[in-house]
Amino acid sequence: MIIIMRPDATERQVNSIVDKLKAHGFGVHLSKGVERTVIGAIGDKSSIELESLQMMPGVSEIVPIRKPYKLVSREFKKEDTIVSLSAEVKVGAGQKILIIAGPCSVEGEKQIIEIAELVKAAGANALRGGAFKPRTSPYAFQGLGETGLKYLAAASKKTDLPIVTEVMDTRDVALVAKYADMLQVGARNMQNFNLLKEVGKTKKPILLKRGPGSTIKDLLMSAEYILSEGNNQVVLCERGIKTFEDSTRNTLDLNAVPVIKKWSHLPVVVDPSHGTGEWDLVPAMAKAAIAAGADGLAIEVHQKPEAALSDGAQSLKPDTFAQLIKELRLVAKAVGREL
Ligand code: PEP
Ligand code: MN
Repeated sequence: MIIIMRPDATERQVNSIVDKLKAHGFGVHLSKGVERTVIGAIGDKSSIELESLQMMPGVSEIVPIRKPYKLVSREFKKEDTIVSLSAEVKVGAGQKILIIAGPCSVEGEKQIIEIAELVKAAGANALRGGAFKPRTSPYAFQGLGETGLKYLAAASKKTDLPIVTEVMDTRDVALVAKYADMLQVGARNMQNFNLLKEVGKTKKPILLKRGPGSTIKDLLMSAEYILSEGNNQVVLCERGIKTFEDSTRNTLDLNAVPVIKKWSHLPVVVDPSHGTGEWDLVPAMAKAAIAAGADGLAIEVHQKPEAALSDGAQSLKPDTFAQLIKELRLVAKAVGREL
């Protein structure tokens, strides 16, 4: 349930409600809006007298949250959440559109620094690159591990771009968090609940990618795991799902953008690279995503896609990426956004 406080409620009144809820075994999550404070209480409602709670000073209303996802729901928080990758780079609530760009995998120091400079010059505001790679085959390139993270840090130092990189294992969360500005939970790990809880304990923003066989509700439930651990800096990512359609690697479900916006306050980004699997389809879907209201994009870019160690077929060359950014600026403007 959520306890909506009166606009004139004092901090003391809020605290005494929080204390009461905690004493009754509730998990408590505060949301301080511009106009009023809302207290989210997750727990067994029958353990508390709702009427006495309602009568406490400062309380305006007690509303049950009917959805299975609570903290991520619009019912809990009406205002869009803003997620900060750095002091300058923020996403959500109509902020400048976030463009996360870079190779699928970090392959070397020179490669990642060079591509970071190229995508930055084109207009990207965050750098992606996997050091721990989830590969279908155990014989495929698995990523450079910590060495890759160090190369990412060097690229970030050179360009000032915040780093987005994947963590696949609970045992690596602290290590990846040491280097990354945003932790990516990949599509295959969307329902790795232990990993979700572990990243939820960090203070890093999380890019949570939708599993290829997961519904939007599943995605929101996974985000709930992260928020329930105290980390509300979560960005949801639509990256294509498996359908009967086999013309493309995945089917990019752009319905997810307005659906998530309706059900949740969290920012949404779209990954048209994994969503299509083919570089020449990426620009059309990137533009469509912005037109549909996405808060950002994650796009794979590689100097030499034909030589990439992973996902070359869906990677844009730097000049195609630069051209796409120019076109995206026009689309963004047409829908009242900035890029
Ligand atoms: C990636 O971002 O390179 C990646 C592996 O993505 P996904 O988890 O969406 O497949
Ligand atoms: Mn990839």
